Amino acid sequence: MKILVPVKRVVDYNVKVRVKSDGSGVDIANVKMSMNPFDEIALEEAVRLKESGKVTEVVAVSVGVAQCQETLRTGMAIGADRGILVETSVETEPLAVAKIMKALADKEQPQLIILGKQAIDDDSNQTGQMLAALLGWPQATFASKVVLEDGKVTVTREVDGGLETVQLTLPAIITTDLRLNEPRYVTLPNIMKAKKKPLETVKPEDLGVDVTPRLKTLKVTEPAKRSAGVKVPDVATLVQKLRLEAKVI
Ligand code: AMP
Repeated sequence: MKILVPVKRVVDYNVKVRVKSDGSGVDIANVKMSMNPFDEIALEEAVRLKESGKVTEVVAVSVGVAQCQETLRTGMAIGADRGILVETSVETEPLAVAKIMKALADKEQPQLIILGKQAIDDDSNQTGQMLAALLGWPQATFASKVVLEDGKVTVTREVDGGLETVQLTLPAIITTDLRLNEPRYVTLPNIMKAKKKPLETVKPEDLGVDVTPRLKTLKVTEPAKRSAGVKVPDVATLVQKLRLEAKVI
């Protein structure tokens, strides 16, 4: 059984992003880039399923510029068996990525595709859902537990106010939430091993997918600056301020 894991190269979550002065987007020149954290969790889960003997192959896929090869090498150091780069300089939107993953799923025939619930750069939270619709497969989003057995997968989902457990028939789509697992640290020997694993490069056109954007970014702005707080001497003053100044009680 094969698992496909889409991994996106994004600005590292520790970087404080800066908006370009013309408001056209975020400055990513000379900024540290990493694998989207939710995709690291997706890959960790796929590799754990392989280590448990239930899965035979894990394939990492990235859509983007040539440097996504580094993201795929990291994925292979975590434990993916091979990588596929779908190379394009276009800033792809979720529907285009979903169409690419659909074309690869038709070719690779995985039983499971595990994606992150969202990419931390565009915060779209759309790709997994769109992919499930394009493939006509069942989907379980925001997974916090995954149990795979006999052609079925049982997924516990984080929903408002609690947990929901659903069962899906394979092939299926899962998107990961933060508490699914804690990804392992990549070790130097595994980084060295990853260099020898196969990495194939294709173009969206090879898969018959048009990645032309459908959205136009009109404006990107920084969040409003927060004003400084004040220290209050006691609870009585705090209550008075909340009532008279903030007017929240
Ligand atoms: P989004 O819908 O953009 O929030 O992304 C959700 C998930 O789709 C991510 O966590 C990835 O697993 C996958 N994904 C989105 N964009 C890409 C990309 N360019 N390359 C690979 N995977 C992607």
